[in-house]
Amino acid sequence: MTEPSASPVRLRSVLATVPAYTPGRPPTPVEGVTAYKISSNENPYPPLPSVLEAVAGAASSLNRYPDMGVTALTAALSERLGVPASHLATGTGSVAVLGHLLSITCEPGDEVVYAWRSFEAYPIVVALSGATSVQVPVDAEARHDLDAMAAAITDRTRLVVVCTPNNPTGPAVREDELREFLAKVPRDVLVVVDEAYLEFTTEDTVPDALAIYRDHPNVAVLRTFSKAYGLAGLRVGYAVAHEEVATALRKAATPFGVSDLAQQAALASLAAYDELEVRVEQIVAERERVVAALREQGWTVPEAQGNFLWLPLGEDAVPFAQACQARALTVRPFAGDGVRVSVGESEANDRFVAIAAEWLRSR
Ligand SMILES: *Cc1c(COP(=O)(O)O)cnc(C)c1O
Repeated sequence: MTEPSASPVRLRSVLATVPAYTPGRPPTPVEGVTAYKISSNENPYPPLPSVLEAVAGAASSLNRYPDMGVTALTAALSERLGVPASHLATGTGSVAVLGHLLSITCEPGDEVVYAWRSFEAYPIVVALSGATSVQVPVDAEARHDLDAMAAAITDRTRLVVVCTPNNPTGPAVREDELREFLAKVPRDVLVVVDEAYLEFTTEDTVPDALAIYRDHPNVAVLRTFSKAYGLAGLRVGYAVAHEEVATALRKAATPFGVSDLAQQAALASLAAYDELEVRVEQIVAERERVVAALREQGWTVPEAQGNFLWLPLGEDAVPFAQACQARALTVRPFAGDGVRVSVGESEANDRFVAIAAEWLRSR
């Protein structure tokens, strides 16, 4: 094949600033050692039999489009959460729903405020929307600095994201500080509370975001089936938002985006949440065990309220991740900043704790 010549198509200049997605490398095989990927905050448990059965049932009608209204899942969520169906909007993962939230609120040049470091998808979806990111550094304990975030709001701000618990650093915001923050946000600015890891939280100061949304017409809550529900591969997430916002979101959604497999799996997972909750509790117990072991070794570990923890390694982030890789463990380094480690299979967690101890001894 001859090399195609460079395309003369004019692309938006913002694309030069958006990193191309580099897929996580599969763990390097090490002779005689099971490889584990604890770099994407996935649920280590395979789907429940009842969920697999629902997916298999849905597979026989793949020649059909899915229910575009996502009716049954929306009704189940409406009942579960105690919110009107008209306040729900689904999408192919909650990152897609965040993209829709940006597309319904932001014109080019508008500003979106969020903490940094936070979820790596935020700068990408904001840039693609045409808006400008305003990143507010997390504080010394890797928590959102909500006072500084309130101060960063200008008359160009259209949307603020509060990621709680914060990916990748771990802490959740407190209910009182979130309410104080909302009192300072102009009523026409949408505040999106991204609760991808809500089910793993254990602190009693964690906000009841649904109560907060009920009290504030400018608040939307983002949730996902990817983490606690273990359906990352099927792509389904949703927003709870007031009627006007939710209606606009449904207009902005990719037509027929949420597949029937995903709709049926999410429904079956809601029905089986008691079983899934046992797994969530086990992941939380493992998280507590790993964090305690690391602190015992002398590591500084910020409060970990998700299914992951953060090691603020600075310049050592990449070398530390390489040391893990050499032992067939894939973790997620953020160069010059830190390493995020998901809570995985207990053997993976044990190996990680051992590598962390060796790392400190070798310093
Ligand atoms: C994983 C994650 C999501 C969910 O992503 P999906 O698109 O639903 O898989 C959303 N927000 C944060 C902060 C996350 O870490």
